[in-house]
Amino acid sequence: MNGADGTTRRDQIAAGLETVHGRIATACADAGRDPADVQLVVVTKFFPASDVRLLAELGVSDVGENRHQEAEAKAAECADLGLRWHFIGGLQSNKAAAVAAYADVVESVDRAKLVAPLERGAERRGHVVDVLLQVSLDPPGAEGRSGADPDDLPTLAAAVAQSSHLRLRGLMAVAPLPGSGGEEPAAAFAHLAAIRREFLVDHPDAGWLSAGMSGDLEDAVRVGATHVRIGSAVLGPRPKFK
Ligand SMILES: *Cc1c(COP(=O)(O)O)cnc(C)c1O
Repeated sequence: MNGADGTTRRDQIAAGLETVHGRIATACADAGRDPADVQLVVVTKFFPASDVRLLAELGVSDVGENRHQEAEAKAAECADLGLRWHFIGGLQSNKAAAVAAYADVVESVDRAKLVAPLERGAERRGHVVDVLLQVSLDPPGAEGRSGADPDDLPTLAAAVAQSSHLRLRGLMAVAPLPGSGGEEPAAAFAHLAAIRREFLVDHPDAGWLSAGMSGDLEDAVRVGATHVRIGSAVLGPRPKFK
């Protein structure tokens, strides 16, 4: 389909990717990091499978989704593309086994109750699922808070580490929502870096850090993010909730 100015959806997405890769490269240069150490995960929630297909054609390897039903359908429709699927949304324990059946990475593990069903789903599918523990950067008691309290990470990590079909890879976090009374992304991510340093003492092999979205990827790269989750800066404003 062509836009009013004659550009195709493919052109739009290619331009978005170029912009984001440029931002990652600049942020890495500023931080003295190698851009090859920062994996772009394109967040495709609300966008159609046809966009996922274009992303794959344009060289994207990793995509992220945050709602189980939508993710399951899209992953099935795009199964031929060889993409790595990241589940980045709030997880219900009764959906966790189903998520582990198609997700290659589950980034939003924030309570021990999720571990057994994730293990079951991964085992049934006969694959190993990479797991990130989502840590909350919101003030305690904040509305809509998601993610584990930093104090709960050791217990959660131990539960994942014991599971034969789950591989503990690291941590994930989302900066507090603007206007929520939480910190600005730069300050919140500085806290995250401190939490990660402590976490790595006990789990030196779990060095992934998924942080940074369209608005704050530079702040995340500065503190050592290995994965950035970018939606709108690549794909444009999200279509309305269906
Ligand atoms: C939607 C979403 C993103 C991407 O957000 P953008 O601002 O569009 O880049 C990243 N992480 C999570 C957890 C999300 O739900």
